[in-house]
Amino acid sequence: MNASTQRSQFLDNVLKIIRRGCELGGFPEEFYELISRPERVVIVKIPVKMDSGKLKVFEGYRVQHNSALGPYKGGIRFHPEVTLEDDIALATIMTLKNSLAGIPYGGAKGAVRVNPKELSIRELEALCRGYARALRDVLGEYIDIPAPDVGTTAQTMAWMVDEYSKLVGRNSPAVFTAKPPELWGNPVREYATGFGCAVVSRELANELLGGLEGKKVAIQGFGNTGQWHAYFVSKMGAKVVAISDTSGTVYVPEGIDIELAMKVKNTTGKVINYPKGEKIPDPQAPLYVDADILGPDAMENQITLDNYHKIKAKIIVEGANGPTTPEAEAKLSERGVIIAPDFLANAGGVIMSYLEWVENLQWYIWDEDETRAKLERIMKNNFLRTWKKFEELRSANKSMTMRDAALVLSLERIYRAMKLRGWL
Ligand code: NAD
Repeated sequence: MNASTQRSQFLDNVLKIIRRGCELGGFPEEFYELISRPERVVIVKIPVKMDSGKLKVFEGYRVQHNSALGPYKGGIRFHPEVTLEDDIALATIMTLKNSLAGIPYGGAKGAVRVNPKELSIRELEALCRGYARALRDVLGEYIDIPAPDVGTTAQTMAWMVDEYSKLVGRNSPAVFTAKPPELWGNPVREYATGFGCAVVSRELANELLGGLEGKKVAIQGFGNTGQWHAYFVSKMGAKVVAISDTSGTVYVPEGIDIELAMKVKNTTGKVINYPKGEKIPDPQAPLYVDADILGPDAMENQITLDNYHKIKAKIIVEGANGPTTPEAEAKLSERGVIIAPDFLANAGGVIMSYLEWVENLQWYIWDEDETRAKLERIMKNNFLRTWKKFEELRSANKSMTMRDAALVLSLERIYRAMKLRGWL
């Protein structure tokens, strides 16, 4: 069995989530049939002349999962172990995320089985250009709009948009998003995901804690998402008491100077080089400190049946994808902990991609403040819609979670679009 046909636990889990959403929302089986399978899967071979002079052929995918709400949209992952089934699962999640975000996109995801760290810059550029060339016919500003994901960057997008533009004979900025600001990107993209997490943290604190001012926040994972999540909640008046990365945890009950911590992390590579506070070797320690709000912003499967009982926060805002297992979420929910689910909380990046696309289609440029204000408005509206649905579901059944509410809202929007189009 080769990598592209391996069964994926991940895909099975995503299909279980869709099944549950269909049951909760009372959608018919024919809707499940449509939403549980991708509309199109493209597998390509990408030959790259390596620095050694040898030719290496990479396998690339583009999964176009659903287009009921608009063009396909989703990142491209470069990872040595990615499988086609994982890519289908990721594309399915993008359909749900884009629908909940209220933006006019379906879902997609691309992948190449490669470890980008093992390639020279020249080889990496050749691979990126090869990917754009191989998929040229199925990409396009009104067809399918990729963005970066794990293992790909703004530079990746710059090479791809250049290659695509050469192929079609004109500059085509809107085919790829999260490009560098110098090449039709927008400066807000750098912090869009963490900023969105901060907006959700603030809105949840308004609902449950009487506001964010002075509240204690702990952040696990001080990378792109975690740093900006911490930065913006501290600007909004909260006190960030713990941050961590793989080097360990910094704990300062009086509050961490986040700008200094960002400088330290980004120059030395380690948060534990922050000059003050208690240093705890365990990178998971922020999960357990005395805090009102917890941001698990590092990676998946961090809050499990083994450690959920040590969490003190009343609110969890999932910056990472899949940080809480379903079993742990059920236990935390019984205890009254409210979890803003990943596909609501970390949607700032894809919403920013949508704003960049709108700018590019019109060759128009919004300044940073204007763009951030638009992003904030969309994040806040999405939070409020989800919160309202959550209260509605919870009044009928106490075990309902915000994730359930987000799932039902997301599926409802796709279902209505399909009905109106006559697909069902
Ligand atoms: P990143 O690589 O910039 O940062 C991750 C950070 O987490 C690093 O500092 C790393 O040292 C730290 N880390 C890794 N394992 C850890 C552990 N066990 N405990 C504590 N810290 C740990 O990555 P990122 O882009 O910030 O992504 C983080 C998560 O957010 C991922 O789940 C990603 O899928 C999700 N996400 C990111 C974006 C985005 O725009 N960056 C958008 C949506 C979702």
